[in-house]
Amino acid sequence: RNWIEDSEAPEIQKRIEHQKLNALLGLCEAAICRRQVLLEYFDDSGEPCGNCDTCDTKPQTFDGTIPAQMALSAVYRTGQRFGIVYVVDVLMGREDDRIIQFGHDQQSTFGIGKEWSKPEWQNIFRQLVSRNLLMVDVNEYNGIKITEKGFAFLKKKESIEFRKLSVKQKAKRDKSARRSKPVMSDESDQSLFEKLKEARQAMAKKRRVPAYVIFHDKTLIELASRRPQSIEEMLEVNGIGESKLKKFGHTLLDVILADRDD
Ligand SMILES: [Zn+2]
Repeated sequence: RNWIEDSEAPEIQKRIEHQKLNALLGLCEAAICRRQVLLEYFDDSGEPCGNCDTCDTKPQTFDGTIPAQMALSAVYRTGQRFGIVYVVDVLMGREDDRIIQFGHDQQSTFGIGKEWSKPEWQNIFRQLVSRNLLMVDVNEYNGIKITEKGFAFLKKKESIEFRKLSVKQKAKRDKSARRSKPVMSDESDQSLFEKLKEARQAMAKKRRVPAYVIFHDKTLIELASRRPQSIEEMLEVNGIGESKLKKFGHTLLDVILADRDD
């Protein structure tokens, strides 16, 4: 999301862009009909449209009533002026200097949400924003506030369903967290290197051998930066002999050739 922070736009504009982006992300993670989400966002309501992807294939959801109540209470008890990151830290019981300084570690909502991970909480908050139970106040440094609908939700003890963080999203997040520091300065080379490593991993698994037996990282790095376009050209890369080329060359070449424009 750095393109927003890096831009020359004034602070307020950046905060607006962030909020829009969050609402949009919430919409992507919608648990109910997308038309309904849009209507709710604009304080309206309506029937499921029957046409959108969530109407088509009902996404996997979970009963979000309890985490929603926790989230709204934490927002309320921290004074409705902090951002999502801060409130999530309170819910997860993070002993952060700021949290201690404001005495929020002494409140009942501190650490009550440990059952959910940070990405899961972010997912929940985005959905609460897109469902219009919470709003991000761009005039107040992106502090989150409870909307009228949010207060009604608490008062009437309503229930709410959230869309599950998909396995794919989860895997993507885990993977990017696990991913080691980039070894290549060029971003597209780095991305090709990661793809080559994946292909190597698959081949190693199939043969039940450690990955380095197939090729060393150094060889993959060289492949990613030189991008040979044929088997012959691959032979010029260090660490690739005829026998390995025969076994693994075509698979890796396919990865390289497929990587051109994405
Ligand atoms: Zn729909």
